[in-house]
Amino acid sequence: MTETGKSPANPTKKSPMTPKAIIHQRFGDKACYKVEEVKDSTPNGCPGLAIPQKGPSLYRCTLHLPDIIVVSDTFKRKKDAEQSAAEKAIEKLGIRQTEYNPSVQEAWDDLAGRVAFMFANEFLSSLHPLSGHFRAALRREGHLNGCVPVSVIAVYDAKTGNICKYINPAAEANSLLVISLVLRAAAKLTDLVLISDEQQLSIQRRYPYPPEIIASINHESSLLESIPIEVIRIPASLEKAVDSLTLNVASTGYYLDVIARELGVTDASNVLISRIIGKASSEMRIYSSAPKQLPFDDFEGSLNVRASYFTGQEVYGDAILASVGYTWKSTDLFREAVSLRSYYRMLVNKTPSGIYKISRDAILAAKLPSAFTTKSNWRGSFPRDILCTFCRVHHLSEPVFSTQSNLLDASLDLPGSRKKLKVTQSNSVGPIGTFSCEVKIYSKNQELILQCSPQESHRKQTDAMQSTSLKVLSWLNIFFENPDISLEKLKLLAEKLDINFTPHSLFKEFSLCHSMHNFGSNVDEPSFIDIGGQNSGVTPSNGSLASISYSVSLFREGDCMKEHLESCEEFEFEIGNEAVLPHLETVVVQMAVGQSAYFRVELPPSEFILAAAGDSLATLSLLSSRSCKLEYSITLLQVTEPLEDRMEQALFSPPLSKQRVEFAVQHIKESSAASLVDFGCGSGSLLDSLLSYPTSLEKIVGVDISQRSLAKAAKSLHSKLNALVDSKEPSSKIKSAVLYDGSITKFDSRLHGFDIATCLEVIEHMEEEDACLFGDIVLSSFCPRILIVSTPNYEYNVILQRSTPHGQEDDPDEKNQSQTCKFRNHDHKFEWTRAQFEDWATDLAARHNYNVEFSGVGGAADVEPGFASQIAIFRRREDNVTNVELADPYVPIWEWCREDLLPPKEP
Ligand code: SAH
Ligand code: MG
Repeated sequence: MTETGKSPANPTKKSPMTPKAIIHQRFGDKACYKVEEVKDSTPNGCPGLAIPQKGPSLYRCTLHLPDIIVVSDTFKRKKDAEQSAAEKAIEKLGIRQTEYNPSVQEAWDDLAGRVAFMFANEFLSSLHPLSGHFRAALRREGHLNGCVPVSVIAVYDAKTGNICKYINPAAEANSLLVISLVLRAAAKLTDLVLISDEQQLSIQRRYPYPPEIIASINHESSLLESIPIEVIRIPASLEKAVDSLTLNVASTGYYLDVIARELGVTDASNVLISRIIGKASSEMRIYSSAPKQLPFDDFEGSLNVRASYFTGQEVYGDAILASVGYTWKSTDLFREAVSLRSYYRMLVNKTPSGIYKISRDAILAAKLPSAFTTKSNWRGSFPRDILCTFCRVHHLSEPVFSTQSNLLDASLDLPGSRKKLKVTQSNSVGPIGTFSCEVKIYSKNQELILQCSPQESHRKQTDAMQSTSLKVLSWLNIFFENPDISLEKLKLLAEKLDINFTPHSLFKEFSLCHSMHNFGSNVDEPSFIDIGGQNSGVTPSNGSLASISYSVSLFREGDCMKEHLESCEEFEFEIGNEAVLPHLETVVVQMAVGQSAYFRVELPPSEFILAAAGDSLATLSLLSSRSCKLEYSITLLQVTEPLEDRMEQALFSPPLSKQRVEFAVQHIKESSAASLVDFGCGSGSLLDSLLSYPTSLEKIVGVDISQRSLAKAAKSLHSKLNALVDSKEPSSKIKSAVLYDGSITKFDSRLHGFDIATCLEVIEHMEEEDACLFGDIVLSSFCPRILIVSTPNYEYNVILQRSTPHGQEDDPDEKNQSQTCKFRNHDHKFEWTRAQFEDWATDLAARHNYNVEFSGVGGAADVEPGFASQIAIFRRREDNVTNVELADPYVPIWEWCREDLLPPKEP
């Protein structure tokens, strides 16, 4: 419909909407389509004698609308019958779909018409938010003509803005331009309105409103009370702090006049109003003083960086941030307190990690995670939504996603594959469909800022979108948190994340962010860590979900004053995914379920503290006295194992890990091995379990790079070994045990020539090239008699994930979509198919004079898709082992020796 009821400039232009869509827009659920099959389509068909027609059936649709019923012609397709019925209804009802597309002259006329409409008597009693301003202006003493600021017309009347766009397209993003266009249009309505002198950007009626109208308005609020409005003052100078203040508006007064006084200008006419910032549903706007003169290019005062950052428009001089105004909902003035806390929350909500923190309501605990592992492990807003929020708060266009579905044929790359391989697809696995997703971020003017196009593929379309979104967010976050980062470094990081960006547009769009966010140097190690309570032994490991309760306060060292900032009864996060502030994770991984801890850290940037603080004044006064720290108090409530472990335990009996141990034991027995080294021993599950079996082993060694895992391994091995020695009939003959901290891609001659070496579920945790390097080093230098290597069989994932307990992994909205087929554990760098694994192992064995055979645990070799864990057993062909060079890069971190074998102690 046109703005003023005139016919459109281009009535022949066809509406892009289908008839059904138009009906839906009008009637929604009230439109009811009934399609029937029309069997007899012969012109003179006589039902009584009907012989079933052979030809294609035809359909006719009856559309029931509240006032009319229409019947379509007959069609071969049901769809066409429905559209035809809708089209007939549109004709009957006279609904015409038109687009507003006026010529410049028509737009000028429409604009004048709009102004005339607003200044007519009737408008004063309308529900339009603008009418509230008209009434308030009229209530001012001695202003029987009303004197309405043009800025409110520009901001509160969407139609005015829309018309102005056709006069000058730049008006869309420039409310000052709208103001000057409205003034020019009003200038033509000489018999209706007057334009006040140049300093006052307002319009008033030429003749007063009729007395009865004025009387009814003044009657509206006879009570003389004062309405307090809590607002924020944002000084133009960055040196001056943002502070809160309360404006008092008389119930008969005009709130914009009060804001004007606060800004140091005469009245509402000189106040500029920004668009809505923050939540679209709020009335949060920034108010500043208008330039003294037209045209609007000589602002007094300097650029207000903070206010401009929020509005995305240039704001000059001091500004007020307030959530107040007339709305469609009520004729009463709507108002909401804007506290310092809300100001800082808006500021925090400008950075990607900040948006995540706010979404979790955990500003002093959460952090944007480094990877999108699984939907079920993600907490808080999803990356894609965060990216949309980010674009909205920075006044950019909506991100543009394009997903691509790839139907992999058998000769293509599978995720994580080392090289192109022929993959024999079994029927039960079926063709593997995957998705990849690209996202583009544009400025409001459609300039491309960045584009992220990862090659990696995902089983679900949404996972691809989330993962790409997170890459963009992580990169943007680096840009926000490191003001001094060089373009070179930024480019390098972008490359790693498959991002391409336009530096020029990036710096233009975010020119103010570095003067706004001050991330300074990062928090160092926590001090005063104190962990208390019984050690239940249940500790979090990478990939598991930890659930904690926490509370953070501001703590002043001198007098031990405390101010509570933030707390949460139950806060879940994924360990090892940087989902919380580093110091928090450092402490949590040292805890066991049921234990509590408290510790102190240096202060984060004050925007975070003030965004979290309930009472910002008390917090501010504490902050100003320096020597403050943050004090955390946490309790570890629960730990949920990573998906891989849960699956392995739930789906296999005995659990897959136990089957791996039994597999190793069998080879130890067969070979009468006396020495064993477990490469990548983790927390020692294999070494630990081996002790429960009677074997020929005398010496066991574990190597890992994770000190945390090694510490756990040492603890459990220590107690188990000592218990063994004490028992009457020890099941094992172990004489010594050692744990080394070291990378298995390096050779250490102390572990040369062992009888048996194991490397279970480790290689997939290394980059493929490191896995290959390990293979070469172990067979060429460590030279164990037997080497057992296990790794997940990628092809088996379909089965694992199909039987994942309900709700763990499956997205209810996507029940019909193909199964998730990600890696089993987010720390996995690759997962190989059987062909890939066999290819790697066969080649390796051949080069180092070993034989290799394949086996596995979970499932069966001859049932598709093979074993769940695939295993290669390498056997050295020659018995004589050549000497090797000495090397000892590994650091022993724990050693155990049977006491009766120790040299006698000195007295
Ligand atoms: N073998 C254990 C642990 C498997 S988890 C089990 O079956 O339970 C994988 C382990 O490999 C982790 O503990 C990790 O720290 C270790 N790891 C990864 N890369 C390594 C490297 N380059 N050197 C030594 N250990 C490594
Ligand atoms: Mg693994």
